Amino acid sequence: MKVSRQLQSQVFSNQLIAELLIRLGRTKWMEKYNVHDLHCEAWAVGIWVKQAGIISYKDLANFWRETAAAIGEFLPAEKLDFGWLVKSMKSDKRYFVHFSRFTGWFCNCMKFKCWHNRISEEMPQFYKALNSKIFCHHVAAAYQMR
Ligand SMILES: [Zn+2]
Repeated sequence: MKVSRQLQSQVFSNQLIAELLIRLGRTKWMEKYNVHDLHCEAWAVGIWVKQAGIISYKDLANFWRETAAAIGEFLPAEKLDFGWLVKSMKSDKRYFVHFSRFTGWFCNCMKFKCWHNRISEEMPQFYKALNSKIFCHHVAAAYQMR
């Protein structure tokens, strides 16, 4: 499976995989390795981590859902007639989120665009685990205040 560098950095960077492994209680690798040593590849069955084994796409999808919901809870959002303006986590920038019953959720941040443009083709199994729904923490913030 060929996953672009852009998508890998947005979906399963070493930092994220380390956090997920710890959350899953899989910490044995930490005795010998640190986060920079982790080697991760997208396989059909999940993310293969050389130092820690397979992480299923279901676990990865749950991790992203929980993370987006947890961050989204604290992002100030303003309701407009045709969508929401959601404040960025790191700057004063605000992102535009909207929902259409035909095309689903949309956000104009970089992460959403990267996921939206790449996941269904580059990581179809992960896309399936997400129930074919792309989201980001801005979408989660809008979803929580709708
Ligand atoms: Zn976004």
